[in-house]
Amino acid sequence: MAIKLNKNFENIKQSYLFSEIAARVRKYSAENSNAKIIRLGIGDVTLPLTPTVISAMHKAVDEMANQSTFRGYAPEYGYDFIRSAVADYYKKFNVSLLANEVFVSDGAKSDIGNIVDIFGDNDIVIPDPVYPVYMDSNLMSGRKIKLILASEENDFLPMPDLLDGGSAVIYLCSPNNPTGAVYNREQLKVWVSYAVKSGSVIIFDSAYEAYIKGNYPHSIYEIEGAKSCAIEICSLSKTAGFTGTRCAWTVIPDELVIDGVKLNTRWARRQATKFNGVPYVIQRAAEAALTKQGQSESAELVKYYMNNARLISDVLKKKNIWYKGGICSPYIWLKCPNNMGSWEFFDYLLEKLQVVGTPGEGFGKGGEGYFRLTSFGSLEATLEAISRFDAKL
Ligand code: PLP
Repeated sequence: MAIKLNKNFENIKQSYLFSEIAARVRKYSAENSNAKIIRLGIGDVTLPLTPTVISAMHKAVDEMANQSTFRGYAPEYGYDFIRSAVADYYKKFNVSLLANEVFVSDGAKSDIGNIVDIFGDNDIVIPDPVYPVYMDSNLMSGRKIKLILASEENDFLPMPDLLDGGSAVIYLCSPNNPTGAVYNREQLKVWVSYAVKSGSVIIFDSAYEAYIKGNYPHSIYEIEGAKSCAIEICSLSKTAGFTGTRCAWTVIPDELVIDGVKLNTRWARRQATKFNGVPYVIQRAAEAALTKQGQSESAELVKYYMNNARLISDVLKKKNIWYKGGICSPYIWLKCPNNMGSWEFFDYLLEKLQVVGTPGEGFGKGGEGYFRLTSFGSLEATLEAISRFDAKL
């Protein structure tokens, strides 16, 4: 008899959104070898790591070259120095965390994908549109998913009034990828109070917190009661340019207890079996990124990208194209002009302007008719894209 495969994979799309985009761009480039393509699609950063991070990495590499300072397996949850550095970072938001509540990992994507392991067969609530990993990782595990629509009517910020009051694992992403929408304090209070009342757990993805401007919560733990109902996942990818360096963290407060079981202990057990820690050199780099100097250098990266976001927003305004985002997030979420579908607009931009963006429906059905542009390109590439928008959109 043939080996049985995980049939749940039949419920996910054949290819991951960004693989499909890459395939279409590859095909177009092969047929149009002179085309100067500008990529405002994938949410990858382009600026290099900052001097403070690089010098910490060099120092750590030298330590690895010396027997007396060489390190082997890193602790599964992160060295104490980085767990404490992350806990210290939260003081900025008036959130007090214990180092043992912080689990350091090689990326928010891994943690989002893996967190499914510690939950049973619950209802899963996911906003639509949103970062596709929440949905795919739950589908792979055969979970039942309830989508809550993020639309122009609710300002792309769905609230618990869309739910039935039952317990669920609820994913929230603020600032949101792809829409750029960000929950305010009052809205997050409503979510936390819903979670406490219904016995739900919120998985709060704050990967873009460094892009927030104004008085919005950077962490869900800024909301009273959140420690008893929320897990937070954050990353240095977009904050400090670590997309290729890989370092993130998951916070599971000691107060988060379900049926007498501390989720912190469960996650520790999961990580101890399936994860062998982030490389020492990278943890030192992450520690450097979280120092005062590191943070101020990273803030310059964010400023650079947000200048691009402003430039993109300006041309869309000029062209009377509806958009959101670009203020507390590096993403601009626009409505495809002339009622085009998302993939139709993708092909149009690629063929007519040689600009690559991301079709909104790749983030869920709620994204149909919308499109995401990112501000992570270089200033020069962004300016070139803008002049093409200006001339040809
Ligand atoms: N969460 C969101 C909302 C993202 O958009 C991304 C990456 O684009 C991630 C998590 C993944 O981050 P990491 O690079 O730490 O895996």
